[in-house]
Amino acid sequence: MMYDYVIVGTGLFGAVFAHQAKLAGKRVLMIDKRPHIAGNVYTEEIEGIHVHKYGAHIFHTNNKTVWDYVNLFADFNRFTNSPVANYKGELYSLPFNMYTFNTMWGVKTPEEAGKIISEQRKRAGITSEPKNLEEQAISLVGTDIYEKLIKGYTEKQWGRPCDQLPAFIIQRLPVRLTFDNNYFNSLYQGIPIGGYTKLVASMMEGIEVCLETDYFSEKEKWDGMAGKIVFTGAVDSYFDFCRGHLEYRTVRFEDELLDIPNYQGNAVMNYTDAETPWTRIIEHKWFQFGKDETGDDLPKTVISREFSSEWKPGDEPYYPVNDAKNKALYKEYEELTKKEKNVIFGGRLGQYTYYDMDKVIESALLAVKRELEYK
Ligand code: FAD
Ligand code: UDP
Repeated sequence: MMYDYVIVGTGLFGAVFAHQAKLAGKRVLMIDKRPHIAGNVYTEEIEGIHVHKYGAHIFHTNNKTVWDYVNLFADFNRFTNSPVANYKGELYSLPFNMYTFNTMWGVKTPEEAGKIISEQRKRAGITSEPKNLEEQAISLVGTDIYEKLIKGYTEKQWGRPCDQLPAFIIQRLPVRLTFDNNYFNSLYQGIPIGGYTKLVASMMEGIEVCLETDYFSEKEKWDGMAGKIVFTGAVDSYFDFCRGHLEYRTVRFEDELLDIPNYQGNAVMNYTDAETPWTRIIEHKWFQFGKDETGDDLPKTVISREFSSEWKPGDEPYYPVNDAKNKALYKEYEELTKKEKNVIFGGRLGQYTYYDMDKVIESALLAVKRELEYK
């Protein structure tokens, strides 16, 4: 065997696994079908701006071990995500908090806001445990906010009616009766200074990598070279879709370089009506406070519009669709993975799970620890 591990995918799962395995003296090779490393967290520098090429990525976690771990590879800035919702030109603070409630209803106290929410919940007839995203959303913030800030955005993002989506998707968002625009409740939050590509490159230092290399075009060759395969691509693709296709949402990004210093005054603006075709516009320079690494103001700006659509063969799969049908199908594939003794399946696609970056890192650390202890 030339390698202990051939790792398919240079995203965070693959990079963490590779780093730890190499530290333990293992021989590692990484391959990726894309022309660059870092998977979906890839950033590309344009005019001093680290452009998040596969969508905005804000690192946040409650896990100190994971936070300390990523800080070994990059310094993080103090970025706090506070997106703005744009509903037909009306601007609201996100996540849902006293600023949002004040703009929506003119209320000034938590008591007034809580009262309106509970009245709207009652009027909508929601008394028991919410059965789907629509009921969950109304139960949390009432019908006005559901109609203006949730329904259109969610249906554009997921391509399904809110009453057919699981409640947990919206439970990711905090609802606060305080004046606090921090989108996350996490203890630790920030963006790696110099971009995510630099962070992943630092994890992969000294590791051999073949880019523009699809595992499936020479699967037998790679299998023959490795003691084990670590597979972080789509789990259904590994089994040649033998049980059918798992569904994903894909995202198309339209990037624009503008010769102005400030387009929207914020990193993230969500377009929450149903008619605007994009879900959000990212203005990347605000992830680094509009400055380059020496602290100088950046003269230009790059914006990206995000368009969400159903995945079809040939597209990049981004979001696993976590409804009952797909969950059941994934279970079937999970059974098949158990029979592949020499393959470790990991990451958002390998485990068909809506993981954030910190969870991917946590699970990669766990997988590699188990693997190295077992040997
Ligand atoms: P990936 O990064 O997808 O890496 C998998 C790699 O495998 C890819 O590079 C792919 O090219 C390669 N590959 C697949 N198949 C093959 C094959 N057959 N042969 C060779 N290579 C192959 N998380 C957060 O914590 N905060 C955020 O703000 C956030 N924002 C997000 C925004 C968007 C639009 C999306 C889609 C995700 C976001 N995430 C966020 C989640 C985050 O992107 C993931 O948790 C993380 O990047 C997953 O890492 P991974 O290694 O599992 O997968
Ligand atoms: N959401 C919404 N309106 C918004 C932002 C989010 O309705 O302005 C809902 C939407 O259903 C989304 C979920 O909240 O899928 C979780 O949002 P988050 O920003 O965590 O999604 P991500 O893009 O990170 O997966």
